[in-house]
Amino acid sequence: MKLNFCSLSSGSSGNCYYIGNEFHGILIDAGISASSIRKFLKDMNISMQTIMGVLITHNHIDHIRGLEVLTRKNHLPAFATLNIWESILTPQMKISRDCIRHIPLQQKFHLAGFDIEAFPVFHDAPETVGFHISAGGKKITIATDLGHICQTAAPYLKEANLLVIESNYDEGMLLNGRYPYYLKKRIQSDHGHLGNHQTSVFLADIISDNLSHICLAHLSKNNNTPEKALQTLKQIFAERKINLNGQPLITILNRNKPTELIKLAE
Ligand SMILES: [Zn+2]
Ligand SMILES: [Zn+2]
Repeated sequence: MKLNFCSLSSGSSGNCYYIGNEFHGILIDAGISASSIRKFLKDMNISMQTIMGVLITHNHIDHIRGLEVLTRKNHLPAFATLNIWESILTPQMKISRDCIRHIPLQQKFHLAGFDIEAFPVFHDAPETVGFHISAGGKKITIATDLGHICQTAAPYLKEANLLVIESNYDEGMLLNGRYPYYLKKRIQSDHGHLGNHQTSVFLADIISDNLSHICLAHLSKNNNTPEKALQTLKQIFAERKINLNGQPLITILNRNKPTELIKLAE
């Protein structure tokens, strides 16, 4: 079975990721407008009819901005844990009951030909999860918002063939930037976001032949640049004498437009 991955948008302004096989697809988060999601999929010749659901990581607006319209107009089922649903369903966010699906934590479920498991991560939302998704003998892990990589989350990240991991901020840019002190502290905290250095060190620790693709995700608009994220990763790898001979392939996910489709299994 095929296993394709594509980021439609990744960053603090909006997140939406696509995973598909030859028959169906799923979305992870709907943090951009429903019309942008439909347009981006259409541009890639992916029919909205093939999308079987959207998995939600947490209630921050950059992950659910398009959710209400997507469920209302496209009747797309949305999957989240009980705690995440409780944090999403406010008077401002009306989601039809028909579209609400509950999923367990750390327990596999099956959707559209994929085995999916949600795992908890540390972040400043009532509950936040990452997703571990497998099909065709290949595994994708997505962890876009996490302050640090705890012992529960780490095995899911280590097992991935394609790892989508946050590289939110450059430590120097954040420190010297215009954000107020409390916000800098929040971002850097264990419940905030992963910085370039933190992510690079973790990747250097876990790198193996298994890991064929690294996608650096959720870059901050104000406190990071794609060049800084890549430069930090290359520097840490060089310090550890890790030779990058085209494997793993490193992709920096675009903030406002889709990144090229990655075909993990043919
Ligand atoms: Zn986010
Ligand atoms: Zn968040």
